[in-house]
Amino acid sequence: MVVVMAPEATQEDVNAIVQLVQAAGGEAFVSRGVSRTIVGLVGDVDEFGALNLRSRAGVVDVVRISVPYKLVSREHHRNRSVIRVGGVPIGPDTMTVIAGPCAVETAEQTLTAARMAKAAGASLLRGGAFKPRTSPYAYQGLGEAGLKILAEVSAETGLPVVTEVIDPASVELVASYADMLQVGTRNMQNFALLQAVGSAAKPVLLKRGMSATVEEWLMAAEYIAQRGNLDIVLCERGIRTFETGTRNTLDISAVPVAQRLSHLPVIVDPSHSGGRRDLVVPLTRAAIAVGADGVIIDIHPEPKLALCDGDQALVDSDIRELASVAAHLPPLVGRTLPPPGPAQPGAGAAPARAATAVS
Ligand code: PEP
Ligand code: MN
Repeated sequence: MVVVMAPEATQEDVNAIVQLVQAAGGEAFVSRGVSRTIVGLVGDVDEFGALNLRSRAGVVDVVRISVPYKLVSREHHRNRSVIRVGGVPIGPDTMTVIAGPCAVETAEQTLTAARMAKAAGASLLRGGAFKPRTSPYAYQGLGEAGLKILAEVSAETGLPVVTEVIDPASVELVASYADMLQVGTRNMQNFALLQAVGSAAKPVLLKRGMSATVEEWLMAAEYIAQRGNLDIVLCERGIRTFETGTRNTLDISAVPVAQRLSHLPVIVDPSHSGGRRDLVVPLTRAAIAVGADGVIIDIHPEPKLALCDGDQALVDSDIRELASVAAHLPPLVGRTLPPPGPAQPGAGAAPARAATAVS
């Protein structure tokens, strides 16, 4: 069961709901998004019915949810959500391009890639400072030095930053530099990490596990929402199949499937799904046509020298084609390309959200 609070509901209104539910022997999880606060209830539905929650101050609706992911379900939220990253919207009316290097290697490489990203129509910059690599001998990223480079490049280009966090202990550090925290495919079911980003005051980009079902993916998002953070964007990045012609198989149907089940925005990563430069623009076209809310794309000024995923990085000569696709296709499906957002270098530092139930 989910209690939907009015936009003007006060903290006292929310607290009153939590207290009523707890007094009835239930649990209440408060989750805050950009435009609304919702309270997820766990316990005896009949007991909750007797509380007459719909008539309480600040309550707009009380909805019984038939699926196991409650807070991220579309059953209580018919309109699809818009998530803002450093002011840049990701949602049903826009087609947001996130682009940049797979990994931050040097300040110069990151700045050049960011300029290429901007020329291609990107409004957000991607780049990994902490890299979760399959091999322990592969490049692991620059760590905090990489975050500093991202913040400088963000200030220089005006592009807010999306970057990966790979363990709970570094969430605070990454959140102090980044505008959006990325949870990668290998960590989709790292529940401690999901809970940690759920308590952070930054939006989260949750990639689909490479062997996860859509339901498992939404349950992972529910872990984040249950800790209080409803600013989540889902990312389809290809799944494991028998096919070896591509690095992964882009599950294009997962986009509308997830959008029908959840109110959260869904974007596509055409770089990690295909794993090949020549597939990135075609898969971007497919993502726009299927109704994705954005794409996240690898770019590198010199992919032959890339320390990570050079084969799938777009180069200078690809930028014009990507820019043309980004400019022309979204309007055909009723979407606009957001302009680059105001840079918020090192903005972080916002106080972490109160975790779980409001007391
Ligand atoms: C990435 O985006 O840099 C990345 C590692 O992606 P994934 O988690 O999808 O493999
Ligand atoms: Mn990569």
